[in-house]
Amino acid sequence: MQLARIVIIGGDAAGMSAASKIRRTDPDAQVTVLEKGIWVSYSACGLPFFLQGVVPEIGDLVARTAQEHRANGIDVRTNHEAVGIDARRRVVTASTEEGEQTFPYDKLLIATGARARRPAFADTDMGGVDVLRGIPDALSMRTHIERRRPRHCVLVGGGYIGIEMAEALRALDIEVTLVDHGSSILKILDAEMSALIAACLTENGVTVRYERDVTELVGTDIVGGVTFADGSTLPADMVVVGAGVEPNAEIAREAGIALGDTGAIRVDAAQRTSQFHVYAAGDCAEARHLVLGRDVHIPLGTTANKQGRVAGENMVGGNAKFGGVVGTMVCKVFDRAFARTGLTQAQAEQAGMHARSVQVEVPSRAGYYENPPTIHARMTVEQRSGRLLGAQLYGDDTVAKRIDVAATALHARMTVEEFTQLDLSYTPPFSPVWDPLVVAANVASR
Ligand SMILES: Cc1cc2nc3c(=O)[nH]c(=O)nc-3n(C[C@H](O)[C@H](O)[C@H](O)COP(=O)(O)OP(=O)(O)OC[C@H]3O[C@@H](n4cnc5c(N)ncnc54)[C@H](O)[C@@H]3O)c2cc1C
Repeated sequence: MQLARIVIIGGDAAGMSAASKIRRTDPDAQVTVLEKGIWVSYSACGLPFFLQGVVPEIGDLVARTAQEHRANGIDVRTNHEAVGIDARRRVVTASTEEGEQTFPYDKLLIATGARARRPAFADTDMGGVDVLRGIPDALSMRTHIERRRPRHCVLVGGGYIGIEMAEALRALDIEVTLVDHGSSILKILDAEMSALIAACLTENGVTVRYERDVTELVGTDIVGGVTFADGSTLPADMVVVGAGVEPNAEIAREAGIALGDTGAIRVDAAQRTSQFHVYAAGDCAEARHLVLGRDVHIPLGTTANKQGRVAGENMVGGNAKFGGVVGTMVCKVFDRAFARTGLTQAQAEQAGMHARSVQVEVPSRAGYYENPPTIHARMTVEQRSGRLLGAQLYGDDTVAKRIDVAATALHARMTVEEFTQLDLSYTPPFSPVWDPLVVAANVASR
């Protein structure tokens, strides 16, 4: 009997989760992973903490090296960039140091991830200008910091990676100006919440500037600043662009595989694409949003790992289903954190829902503790049904796990009324007797 030939394009979270699952499920399957870079199984999520110095070595971010995967029976080929898929003949062509090579498959997984969006002004080789997506970006930034000792960095884009970078750079004593073209940062939050995070940034020495459209860079070999749409300039000896990401889906599209409205690869719950025998998972693929009831592109490591695992199981005869997403994420901001799940008020309205939101500020511990830090909790509710649509938290590091209660409630399609009755834990050092999310649910259910 011929062994199943599995080819996986992309050797990070989604690709290697799939490969490992396949090894465990069907040890006889021949698994080949094509990775265009030299790093596999790395934590991109840890890159800001490497730059900050919290993670000492870049290698610490690698969960398992290519050699370790090979020892586990997975044929990992680094420096192999897949350049074409012939879905009819079931062959992947890869560009390698030895020229083009072909890899026939019985089942194929596309796990090519996403890339940082580079606005036109950032499409340059100028030194000191970086995006933060992969290990090479972080190493380039680290080299610039060590060699040039920059004093002022302009962060373009107020997304969560920009926020993490702001903290990392302040820890290195670099002045930071965060510029965003919109009227608020963090569009994944409602403006009432993102204003709190902006205030936290300011308190920690970050200058935040809104409605500033960067159109050009100043400098020739090394960056000297940025120019805005109104012609004004801001000197800087380092620029980091965080303008979002776009899925690496071209190779799928060129092979005739359907993309969704988001531009990412369309998949079903089994992670199958429109092309028989071809699966997709992670940042290159869409996922079903359980509150919106439609497919979205929310590129997160949590989803990539789970989708990869589901794809891996199904590629060797399993029947696993990916349960969908609700857009849950958390981010550290200096000594505070924010977290969100589901829809914001703005997103609910955009989706045509009749929604309302409540926001409360509650101590994160029993009130008799001296100066207990407070938590801002915001809940968005569907008007008619009282169904919970989303939650946002800002406060101490307990928000990181508190948000998961709201995420679970979204999976269960709970109303805020039902939420008020959840039996959540309480002891004075960790929580007030009325949990902050329950307080918000109480207010929302009035
Ligand atoms: C700075 C930063 C912080 C983050 N923080 C968090 C966080 O806190 N929480 C969270 O959930 N998520 C976070 N993320 C997102 C998370 O890292 C990604 O969602 C996750 O890495 C996606 O995994 P993936 O395998 O789908 O894609 P990727 O990690 O992008 O991996 C895709 C791989 O495919 C390779 N590849 C692409 N095209 C080809 C080709 N044609 N041939 C061969 N190989 C190819 C790439 O080189 C890459 O190694 C963060 C991301 C960044 C950049």
